[in-house]
Amino acid sequence: MVNTISLLGSTGSIGRQTLDVCREQGIRVAALTARSRIDLLEQQARAFRPQLVAVAELEPALELARRLADLKIEVAYGLDGLRRAASLPESEAVVTAVVGMAALWPTMAAVEAGKRVAFANKETLVCAGELVMEAARRYGAEIIPVDSEHSAIFQCMQGCRDRGEMKRLILTCSGGPFFGLRREEVAKKSKAEALCHPNWSMGEKITIDCATLMNKGLEYIEAMRLFRAAPEQVSVVIHRQSVIHSMVEFTDGAVLAQMGTPDMRLPIRYALTYPERRKSEQPPLDLLNCPPLTFAPPDLDAFPCLKMAMDCAKAGGTCCTVLNAANEAAVELFRREEVSLGQIPDLVAAALDRTANIRHPSLEQILDADRRARTLVMEMAAC
Ligand code: NDP
Ligand code: MG
Repeated sequence: MVNTISLLGSTGSIGRQTLDVCREQGIRVAALTARSRIDLLEQQARAFRPQLVAVAELEPALELARRLADLKIEVAYGLDGLRRAASLPESEAVVTAVVGMAALWPTMAAVEAGKRVAFANKETLVCAGELVMEAARRYGAEIIPVDSEHSAIFQCMQGCRDRGEMKRLILTCSGGPFFGLRREEVAKKSKAEALCHPNWSMGEKITIDCATLMNKGLEYIEAMRLFRAAPEQVSVVIHRQSVIHSMVEFTDGAVLAQMGTPDMRLPIRYALTYPERRKSEQPPLDLLNCPPLTFAPPDLDAFPCLKMAMDCAKAGGTCCTVLNAANEAAVELFRREEVSLGQIPDLVAAALDRTANIRHPSLEQILDADRRARTLVMEMAAC
C-alpha cells in the first residue's frame, strides 16, 4: 500500500476516480497535473492541497498560479513541470492517467525515479512498451496495470511463481456500442452514437476507441508488453456483460478469471494498495441477478482496427507506433467531426501502408514514426 502519490491527468475520467480512491483510502496527493481544465484542477488543488501542480501549457498555468496565490502550492508548466510531478521524491507511486502518447516523457521520468507506476495510459505501452518495461527493470520501477483487463490478468497471476505456467491471456471485450453491426453500418455512425458505451463511462478518446474496437487492439499489444507474452498467447473474446474483466489460462488447463461490477476504482485501488486488498464501498457482484454470461469471437471484418492491431502485434516494431499515432490523429479528427467513423480504420491502414517498419527501434525512431504518422493522417484527411 502506498501513502503518497503523484497523479498525472487528474482532471480526466481515471484521474477523478483516482482522487475518489485517495479520499476513500486516506492516500495523500503530492502532485496533480492536467492540460487545460484549470477550473477543475483548481478545485482539486484546494481539496487535496498538493505541493506541486503542473499544467502542460504556459497560459493556463499562469492563470492557475494567479488563482492559487493564497495557497502554498507551486505551479509548474510544460514538460519540465510534468516530469517534476512524476518524479517528486515524496511520491511513492505515480498514476499515469494522461491520454495519448503525451504521457511518454512524464511516464519515463516516473520509471527512472524508480516509482511504482500505476499504469492507466496504454498508448505509451503500445508505442514504446519494450523501452518502458526495459527501463522499469533497470531502475527498479514497479509497473502495476490499471486498465481493467490487465489488472484482472495481474490479479489472476498472483501466486503464479513461474511465468512458464501461463499459457494464454484471454482479454474480454464488451463489443462496444456497435456490436453485431456490419462494417458499412459501423462506418456511418455519428460521434454522439460512438460516445454511448454500453457498460463504462470514460474519456472521449478511449470511448471512440471502444466503438471501433481499436481499444481492444491497443490492449492486445499492451498485454504482450506488460506480461511479456507472445502474440499467439493473447486472445480476445466478446463478453457483452463486462462481468469477467479478463482471464488467464495456465498450462495445467486451469482458467482463472477476475470478476466484479464494472467500476474502474477497483483496479485503481488495487494498483495503489497492492499487495493488500482494502475495503471499499463498491456494490457487491450479485451473481443471482446477473444477466447470463455470454462469450463470442470478435468480428474482425466489421472491426478492422482490431485486426490491424493484431497484425502489428505480430510484426512488432514501429508499426505499433504508427498504428497508435495514426489512430490518435484520426480519432481527434473524428471528435472534431472532420472525418467519419469509417475513415478511422481507412486512415490508419493508409498510414501503415505508407510506412516502412523498423523492427527494433530506438526511442528517436519511435518518436519519428509517431510524428510522421500524425502528419500523414492530417495530409490524407485534408485531400
Ligand atoms: P480523459 O480524456 O478523461 O483525461 C485525460 C487526462 O489527460 C486529462 O487530465 C487531460 O487534461 C490530460 N491530458 C490530455 N492531453 C494532455 C497532454 N497533451 N499533456 C498533459 N496532459 C494531458 O482520459 P481517460 O481518463 O479516459 O483516459 C486516460 C488514460 O487511461 C488513457 O490512456 C486511456 O486509454 C486509459 N484508460 C482509461 C479508462 C477509463 O475508464 N477512462 C480505462 C482504462 C484505461 P485536461 O482535462 O486538462 O485536458
Ligand atoms: Mg480496458
